[in-house]
Amino acid sequence: MDIKEYIDTLPKKAARPRPDGTYTVLPRMRHGKLDAARLAVISRVVEANNLPGIRITAGQQVLIDGVSEDRLKAVVEALGEVGPAYKHNAQGCLGTGGCKLGQQDSRAAAARLSELLETFDMPCKVKAGVSGCPMCCAESMARDVGLFGKKGGWTVSFGGNAGKRVRCGDILAENVSGDEAFAIIAKALAFYADNAKKKERTARFVERVGLDALKRAALGED
Ligand code: SF4
Repeated sequence: MDIKEYIDTLPKKAARPRPDGTYTVLPRMRHGKLDAARLAVISRVVEANNLPGIRITAGQQVLIDGVSEDRLKAVVEALGEVGPAYKHNAQGCLGTGGCKLGQQDSRAAAARLSELLETFDMPCKVKAGVSGCPMCCAESMARDVGLFGKKGGWTVSFGGNAGKRVRCGDILAENVSGDEAFAIIAKALAFYADNAKKKERTARFVERVGLDALKRAALGED
């Protein structure tokens, strides 16, 4: 089996070639958290293979750089779980779990949102950001699905995009409970999954079908 065939046996994005002939490897982690045992495994792999270290990605993941072709298989096997934990990861800020401005538990909501996103067969990638307060450090308003917390509950947005055609998400609800927010998000995602064209991001989808149609689907509004 050559190196490309080997990479094809791994989860998508687990190992990727770099222009300098080395590979990056993505150890699996969930919601920006690594326990002591997992940290020790990663540290041992870096040390044993004389690698430069790790890099933190914009998506709150750890990336191991500089893995040579002849060490790739050994590195992957030593790490155990590799590749993204979720097809569509929800990024969460510290929220009440570590930020003095936090008004809601954004980490727990991001975990819940990641699980919800797994249940849909999406036409395109979906990015989600959950912030514990209106400062929106998880860039909630520029994500396909966004949540941010206030004392009175959650604000839900949909259809944001930070790509080359930037779009601010549309607010679907404010000051709703977690369960209410997730019910709205589930309906909006179902509407998107059922009606979007292949490869159509939520921003372009909302522009095409209109905010009224999205609100009718997600909130039952006329
Ligand atoms: S969004 Fe608010 S709670 Fe989250 S890290 Fe930023 S300031 Fe803190």
